[in-house]
Amino acid sequence: MPSKLVNRKRVRKLKAGDVGPGPVVYWCSRDQRAADNWALIHACESAAATGAPVVVAFSLVPAFLGAGARQFGFMLRGLREMEAALKSRGIPFALLRGDPSETVPAFAKALDAGLIVVDQSPLRLGREWRDAVADRAPCPTHEVDAHNVVPVWEASPKLEVGARTLRGKLAKLYPEFLVEFPDLPNVSDAKLSDAAARAVDAARVTDWDATIAEAVEAGKAVPEVSWAVPGENAARATLEHFLTRRLRLYEHRNDPAKPQALSGLSPYLHFGHISGARCALEAKRFSKSASKAVEGFFEELVVRRELADNFCWYSPKYDQLEGQKYDWAKDTLRAHASDPRDHVYSLEQFEQAKTHDKLWNAAQLELVHGGKMHGFMRMYWAKKILEWTKTPEQALEFAIHLNDKYSLDGRDPNGYVGCAWSIVGVHDQGWKERPVFGKIRYMALSGCEKKFKIPDYIARVNQLVAAVKAGEKHSAASNPGRFHIDFDAAISKGEAGAGGSGGSAGGAAPGEKKSEKNFRPSVVVSAEELTRMVKAATEASAGDAARAADALDALLGVRVTAELLADTGVGKEVKRLSKSEGNAELAAKAKAVVNAWKKIVVG
Ligand SMILES: Cc1cc2nc3c(=O)[nH]c(=O)nc-3n(C[C@H](O)[C@H](O)[C@H](O)COP(=O)(O)OP(=O)(O)OC[C@H]3O[C@@H](n4cnc5c(N)ncnc54)[C@H](O)[C@@H]3O)c2cc1C
Repeated sequence: MPSKLVNRKRVRKLKAGDVGPGPVVYWCSRDQRAADNWALIHACESAAATGAPVVVAFSLVPAFLGAGARQFGFMLRGLREMEAALKSRGIPFALLRGDPSETVPAFAKALDAGLIVVDQSPLRLGREWRDAVADRAPCPTHEVDAHNVVPVWEASPKLEVGARTLRGKLAKLYPEFLVEFPDLPNVSDAKLSDAAARAVDAARVTDWDATIAEAVEAGKAVPEVSWAVPGENAARATLEHFLTRRLRLYEHRNDPAKPQALSGLSPYLHFGHISGARCALEAKRFSKSASKAVEGFFEELVVRRELADNFCWYSPKYDQLEGQKYDWAKDTLRAHASDPRDHVYSLEQFEQAKTHDKLWNAAQLELVHGGKMHGFMRMYWAKKILEWTKTPEQALEFAIHLNDKYSLDGRDPNGYVGCAWSIVGVHDQGWKERPVFGKIRYMALSGCEKKFKIPDYIARVNQLVAAVKAGEKHSAASNPGRFHIDFDAAISKGEAGAGGSGGSAGGAAPGEKKSEKNFRPSVVVSAEELTRMVKAATEASAGDAARAADALDALLGVRVTAELLADTGVGKEVKRLSKSEGNAELAAKAKAVVNAWKKIVVG
């Protein structure tokens, strides 16, 4: 039966054939969420057509591309939440252990499955797994692109030269693919046979704490970070916090001294705890009030992210110099391979942040202790690895190794392409020729000095390292993005709404037309953060008007209560700013905040 809910172009038949009457197994791999998941919707719709049940399976491998406790802990905690969200919809969750190319077909056989559905991955190992599963599957196998707004195979039939050639192709397809998610078809009444139920029971997780503890112990060389609370609810809270409080700062995303400008979504997008399409749909609602910021966010979130998938999909040696299609970059790097280097560092020296460059060392420390390096610094960091290693091949290898080992969002097409852009010129053009780099774009410390306040960035990283070493958890200081979200409040409210498709991050009532007007932050800001934000505005107002304006804009998006205003007493600080005569724009912004807060106090 043709799918009504999922665009058929989003589905590739890895193994064709008629869907049988048995259960549908959704082998969940890249998109680890219950909400807004086209693969799960396809599985449920297919099952509902035959009255069959759906089982979601995840196959846990003992080692994955250098991942440690940081990544395994985040992932398993997210899966625990996913299991609960599925349970509320009558869908059991099975945790298989081992190579999915063996475990998934065996599980499907044990269930006498009628169909296997899997989400899409452009990475080599992921594709090998999917092909092997389809090969050995006892039933048809469908791959659904649940990660991209536009399915990678629909966006373009070929390797794209760069963002400029993909952007227009994607834009033409948004009306067809960037659409609201339907509700998940109900499959809760369908029952498993006794034999299938036994197979599912054998693969249920009986003790999540022990499962997580085991993985965290095995990968303890790279410990977990506390700021990124995993799971669908936390992902929604992060999106909401970004859109309602920090979106207008996004124009400063290339300033590492202003880390709050970034969304902080990459770990969630990487593990699929949130759908890129959900982020895009919600961001679009701010197009009028923050058009430049939304445009910039859309470019990164959709165009650049989907360009990375395009690259890995059509260029399977995406992580090797040899695998690059364009000769100019390979040729220029080879021509300069034997140029003398001013500094050459070993992997250990890089890893321990022991170079002569304080800025580079700070970036490396941010990665090691925070689990996420600022996006702009990532470019500088990788380019300097090219400058200070023996060969470009080694530079690419070191950069990918360190990125995958320490980044919470590592082992992702974005990471392979980010390293390849910096070191091998992928998606870039030739620049003025110079030693070591040849025609690859160069980045200089002096350029950074002009662009942002390096001492501020280094000071922030030092605070981050101190906070992490002191065991400070869930604080803004231990977060490389410097934002603080009261996740407990967000999650206990349940407004983030994992477990179903559709629904807005801002909690518009069912049936209520979604617009920016009814997009209200559901999380009340903490007293600590409110005080910090007001302090940032008042301190900056003396010498950095742009920064003060950003802070006031952010305050306007913050949800406060009358009690919080009374407890912190910050109202009078903002009132003072609203009366300052030096800068009319700042005074007006402060006045807007005062007026908004007055309404809250008066009720
Ligand atoms: C050397 C290098 C390594 C990188 N490694 C990774 C990585 O391992 N994982 C990763 O997700 N990104 C990587 N990036 C891309 C980018 O730096 C990060 O996506 C971004 O910093 C993530 O933070 P954010 O979500 O707060 O960013 P935001 O600016 O808020 O971006 C929102 C989302 O847009 C996407 N995005 C942003 N910038 C890019 C980009 N340049 N290319 C592709 N997608 C982008 C990401 O999905 C990101 O989460 C790398 C870039 C470079 C130069």
